[in-house]
Amino acid sequence: MARYTGPVCKLCRREGLKLFLKGSRCLNKDKCSFEDRKNPPGPPPKKKGKISEYSTQLREKQKVKRIYGVLEKQFRDYFEKANHQEGITGENLLQLLERRLDNTLYRMGFASSRAQSRNFIGHGHVLVNDHKVDIASYQVKVGDKISFKEKLSKTDLMDQNIKLAQSLNRHPAWVTPDYTKFTGEIASLPAREHVDMPIKEQVIVELYSK
Ligand code: SF4
Repeated sequence: MARYTGPVCKLCRREGLKLFLKGSRCLNKDKCSFEDRKNPPGPPPKKKGKISEYSTQLREKQKVKRIYGVLEKQFRDYFEKANHQEGITGENLLQLLERRLDNTLYRMGFASSRAQSRNFIGHGHVLVNDHKVDIASYQVKVGDKISFKEKLSKTDLMDQNIKLAQSLNRHPAWVTPDYTKFTGEIASLPAREHVDMPIKEQVIVELYSK
């Protein structure tokens, strides 16, 4: 699957928001270039005239794609799927994005970013219900059990991630990680209130509904 491989900090500048794309670095004010107002990443912001409705909708979509690390075609497919599900399309869309395996590891705290999750998954370190899953977009289900190959769980990197997760203690209620056993379970499907980034999903629905 093709993926954005350019500099990521400038994406935060572009969206005017910390997108948390670089793991623990994003939490360190001295290391996060978004915090450095004198020398922020990316091109300087354009002078703002009147912003069109289309431009606002486009930016919201770009922001969400960047948060979850999804490219256009796949994002569009998520929207189509969300639109055909029962319920509110925007909330369905966010749920599909939250249920991605890469997001799930990140939200459990076993990876410090979604990009790192994709790395773990791509290298075959992640098991779902004791079977290797190497597809980052795999949709987790209620009751799924996530675990890791010993090769990863015994690393300093995993140790650091778990220490960070324990200190932040902010995993959402739909996942139940067990840091002593290097496992986690999907307790329920993610709901709208579990999304921890400022997202206006209705604006994206309006964009695709034109
Ligand atoms: Fe964004 Fe700061 Fe993280 Fe870079 S370090 S990705 S600017 S939040």
